Amino acid sequence: MKYVLVTGGVVSGLGKGVTASSIGVVLKACGLRITSIKIDPYLNTDAGTMSPFEHGEVFVLDDGGEVDLDLGNYERFLDIKLTRDNNITTGKIYQSVIDKERRGDYLGKTVQVVPHVTDAIQEWIERVAMIPVDGKEGPADVCVIELGGTIGDIESMPFIEALGQFSYRVGPGNFCLVHVSLVPVLNVVGEQKTKPTQHSVRGLRGLGLTPNILACRSTKALEENVKEKLSQFCHVPAANIITLYDVPNIWHIPLLLRDQKAHEAILKGLNLQGVTVEPHLDEWTGRVERCNKLHEPVRIAMVGKYTGLSDSYLSVLKALFHASVVCQRKLIVEWVPACDLEDATAKETPDVHKAAWNLLKGSDGILVPGGFGDRGVQGKILAAKYARENRIPYFGICLGMQIAVIEFARSVLALQDANSTEFDSETSNPCVIFMPEGSKTHMGGTMRLGSRRTYFQVTDCKSAKLYGNVSFVDERHRHRYEVNPEMVAQLENAGLSFVGKDKTGQRMEIVELPDHPYFIGVQFHPEFKSRPGRPSALFLGLIAAASGQLESFLNNLNNVQNVATNSIKSNGRSTMKVHQNGSVKKPANGSVNGVYANGNGHANGNGHANGNGVHY
Ligand code: GLN
Repeated sequence: MKYVLVTGGVVSGLGKGVTASSIGVVLKACGLRITSIKIDPYLNTDAGTMSPFEHGEVFVLDDGGEVDLDLGNYERFLDIKLTRDNNITTGKIYQSVIDKERRGDYLGKTVQVVPHVTDAIQEWIERVAMIPVDGKEGPADVCVIELGGTIGDIESMPFIEALGQFSYRVGPGNFCLVHVSLVPVLNVVGEQKTKPTQHSVRGLRGLGLTPNILACRSTKALEENVKEKLSQFCHVPAANIITLYDVPNIWHIPLLLRDQKAHEAILKGLNLQGVTVEPHLDEWTGRVERCNKLHEPVRIAMVGKYTGLSDSYLSVLKALFHASVVCQRKLIVEWVPACDLEDATAKETPDVHKAAWNLLKGSDGILVPGGFGDRGVQGKILAAKYARENRIPYFGICLGMQIAVIEFARSVLALQDANSTEFDSETSNPCVIFMPEGSKTHMGGTMRLGSRRTYFQVTDCKSAKLYGNVSFVDERHRHRYEVNPEMVAQLENAGLSFVGKDKTGQRMEIVELPDHPYFIGVQFHPEFKSRPGRPSALFLGLIAAASGQLESFLNNLNNVQNVATNSIKSNGRSTMKVHQNGSVKKPANGSVNGVYANGNGHANGNGHANGNGVHY
């Protein structure tokens, strides 16, 4: 096993995760098998208890791990499936050390950061690096380790120490350190300044780690004399100094790395020269080009709580984007803060209320993503009602499905107080209830989490068709509440159709309104398994419906072959050929979204990402 460690210096937010994933992409294109580990030095055991508003979305893995959103990037870029242990946190490490101490495993020794915590970190890395994540047998060739945070952070010290020891232990030729840093340009003189990078490399060396490669973020390519200067002060050959200059979207990053021969420097560091092939990355080049050509817009209203930070819904945005590309539409996400749709807002700030409704009404489709807590729930219910009554395509994910059921119970069954017990524990019409397997007292890891199977109840429904007429689908879950099985008959008699259930038939997984152009809610989170070139089926349905293409999609899934660049077999049921490209867009609030980069999109190689069904 060879290791590439990616660290960050100067400031956070340099795109270390994207850089690390892109390194994986280039190495994969060299013919190597790649796995990855993300180290988050925070004390939380996992990302499950962290607010999406603070830290971006909580990504959910097949095994139910609630992890940092960077693992989503790795899964999408590299088309792999990671485990919860691929995300190391200070909380997990200390918990394992303390458990060991309580068991008496340290045999009376004083338990210390060095060597006990640092040993635990190294053992964890070595163990997890061996887990196959690409569907093949045996361990990968290279493990890319991303150390979160910035060099100098107090929290990352034990990890730096452990990684320093680790690099020494695995020895030269097995370990390559890429340091991502910033080269700012001062407006006054327009000069590329190397001092911050010099300082951060000095800090790194002082902690016992020597970078093999510098990846410098800057607005433009580094000038030769700047590279020379950095080389001299940082003791890194100029050929190993790469510039990650600003690009229109992150799909360019693997190409930037390849063009500057980053792979050669890494392969040299890992003693792998001569055993690999040239990384062509044709799919990436094509994707970047095609993405720039998308012009016809499709507008999707995202009615959520955390609309101020697009990272809060990162995977949903990626999934929408993958679907838009296949539908040849330029994705425009309209951020609609759910609270702004509510009547109370009309009284307090009528302009805000009006603007939110205008956005909603101007969109081609409405998506209500997952969420917790009662803030904005009424606004989401109004959005679902608007979509249902005006026949606007609607897709509700997890809470978005529960909202659709509550709205239907209130409006169609005339049960005014219908609600989820999450928001009103006293309601006399609890159409969404607490699940027995959840916990109300412990928040971490106590939900129904990870991959679970949904069985289709009927074949003649949109979701079954979109999934390729399979009998079941495996998707990832993260919820504590569920549709009340005792109210299902009543809801179905009034026209709501529960077309997907778990194996007991008691747990509602997919709901549809049959007489609506596209009104679907799912208890699971299909966004986590969407891939570039293989968008998640129900996101594809939403975008197709919102762009007037659903009918033709459903009538003939094969007709997408006309826009083909890749063909994907799906258990012999149908073959779709799709575009794979990307685009950049800015949402109303100014943060970047809709940008998507992916690993490879070699869909043929992996015809069962969902364990079943059609793969686009
Ligand atoms: N709060 C709801 C529940 O726990 C929905 C969760 C979600 O949307 N992920 O069931």
